[in-house]
Amino acid sequence: MSDHGFTNLGIADPSISDPRAAEILARVFGYESFRGDQQAIVDHVIQGGDALVLMPTGGGKSLCYQVPSLVRPGTGVVISPLIALMQDQVDALTELGVRAAFLNSTQDWQDTRDVERAFVAGELDLLYVAPERLLTERCQQLLSRGRIALFAIDEAHCVSQWGHDFRPEYLGLSMLHEQWPNVPRIALTATATDVTRVEIAERLALNDARHYVASFDRPNIRYHIVEKQDVRRQLLQLLRQEHAGDAGIVYCLSRNKVEDTAEFLCAQGIDALPYHAGLGAAVRAQNQSRFLREDGVVMVATIAFGMGIDKPDVRFVAHIDLPKSVEGYYQETGRAGRDGLPATAWLAYGLQDVVQQRRMIDESAGDDAFRRRLGAALDAMLGLCETVSCRRQRLLQYFGQSITPCGNCDNCLTPPESWDGTVAAQKMLSAIYRLMKERGQRYGAGHLIDILRGKETPRVLEHGHGTLTVYGIGQDLSEQAWRSVLRQLLAQGLLMVDQEGYGTLALTDLSRAVLKGERTLMLRREADKPVKTTTPRSKSLQPDLPRAAQTVFEALRTWRAGIARSHGVPAYVIFHDATLREIALAMPDTLEDLGFVSGVGIKKLESYGESILQCIAELAE
Ligand code: ADP
Ligand code: ZN
Repeated sequence: MSDHGFTNLGIADPSISDPRAAEILARVFGYESFRGDQQAIVDHVIQGGDALVLMPTGGGKSLCYQVPSLVRPGTGVVISPLIALMQDQVDALTELGVRAAFLNSTQDWQDTRDVERAFVAGELDLLYVAPERLLTERCQQLLSRGRIALFAIDEAHCVSQWGHDFRPEYLGLSMLHEQWPNVPRIALTATATDVTRVEIAERLALNDARHYVASFDRPNIRYHIVEKQDVRRQLLQLLRQEHAGDAGIVYCLSRNKVEDTAEFLCAQGIDALPYHAGLGAAVRAQNQSRFLREDGVVMVATIAFGMGIDKPDVRFVAHIDLPKSVEGYYQETGRAGRDGLPATAWLAYGLQDVVQQRRMIDESAGDDAFRRRLGAALDAMLGLCETVSCRRQRLLQYFGQSITPCGNCDNCLTPPESWDGTVAAQKMLSAIYRLMKERGQRYGAGHLIDILRGKETPRVLEHGHGTLTVYGIGQDLSEQAWRSVLRQLLAQGLLMVDQEGYGTLALTDLSRAVLKGERTLMLRREADKPVKTTTPRSKSLQPDLPRAAQTVFEALRTWRAGIARSHGVPAYVIFHDATLREIALAMPDTLEDLGFVSGVGIKKLESYGESILQCIAELAE
């Protein structure tokens, strides 16, 4: 990896940066400089090269195709599966003075005709198209009548059959190359593994594309994984104590849980909305739109929600069920803090999650190889949950990237203790061994722990388990501590959930070494007190504004809300918080000074400059 955090796997000549790109970046987007490898990517595509870009969410992928589309003659055709977001994308570009439009199934005949005509007449800088639309005869004929600057294939991981975002239409996109061999193609995704990258290149026939793999680190996101106890209470505490009034996403595994949780949060006075594939299209669209347009809405959702959501000020992503893979988890948490300001990724997980997911894998359709793949993905996720070292280091290691401990995750901030759990593990494994001998009996974690702790429950009495040699040998640990031991044994593959025994616990090949004392087992110690979810917010990334600037910032937000409402667009389409903060600090009194603020391009200066200066002047009076 090179020192700017990017690996460039291409072989073409190092390019000379194009002055037109820098000019457009400043004039249209109001940004001073490219980030990371944006410059190299933009130059490469402007010169007609193909590119495959892997950048984390919030890394700045859009500029990589938007700028070349504006530099190269013709229209940039953007292929995106996210029909529901195309309107917002086009609105945001229009606010910047870019000529953009989309073609998808939500349009009526007249709108379609207008867009087609504008494209053929060369009046569009960017055209967004859904993949299924692109593959139609009509669309291909249309495209051959105009001039195409480039093809951008967004969310390119949708071509991968293994991911949960697979879209069969994406497979058809390899034809772009055959039909338009001289038009550069740029494929973009936030999915980071090498396997996916190779698969994308292959399936989209991006044979000569340069690969750009960015650092996937998102330093402003604080990772926090807690033991699940009373998850609703824990979630509520997080929302109230750390994120009052903030916009965020709460991910759940099932539709029912989404609805229950949203209802619960609403009853607690939190502005929460549900989102899952079982809701009608109209409800989904409406909830999504409220989340994007209004401040401080909490979306409770299954993973059906979130791809392509480019709301920059999502302050937290909370998972109240264990995600199925690190890859999915990282994408979901990446939706927090796209604006670079501090954000939280919070996950609560418990024994039940492990048992449930193992069972789901065992019961899933598909061959052994498929199940093994799911199992390995889950193991990696469990490893992340149980690690005593830096979470971020662990996450990035999964994507083949190495960093030093981050200082912004729970383990870095409050290093957990580890303890020698060998004896405890031996006790638990022997108890399970004894119980396994009693054929045909079903029991769960609760009963096992009761036996270890020597509790005289009706169940213990009924089965005569009080006479087992292991009865009462584990009184030295609390019930919670035993659950933690059990979870870690499961996570490490020292125990399994036996399918034939219908969810009963069973030993594995690895258990023997522990039982025989051939292996020492270090375990993570959970805090005994109820888990405190809060750690002080990092001040380094979002220093408090001085009081005067804070007043200006609030006033500008109010002003922005009014404009956004009258234009029918999300507030961040007008200006990001980060831009308003900078204005509040700089207190410009001329249009020229205002133009220097990052995020203020020429069109926005024209549209809103006077109004902002007036807003500031009024406050100064
Ligand atoms: P992605 O599509 O990779 O998730 P975006 O393209 O939405 O990310 O960019 C994330 C945020 O970063 C956006 O708010 C964008 O305006 C901002 N951004 C991107 N590139 C730059 C840059 N060179 N300078 C300043 N801000 C940038
Ligand atoms: Zn860390």
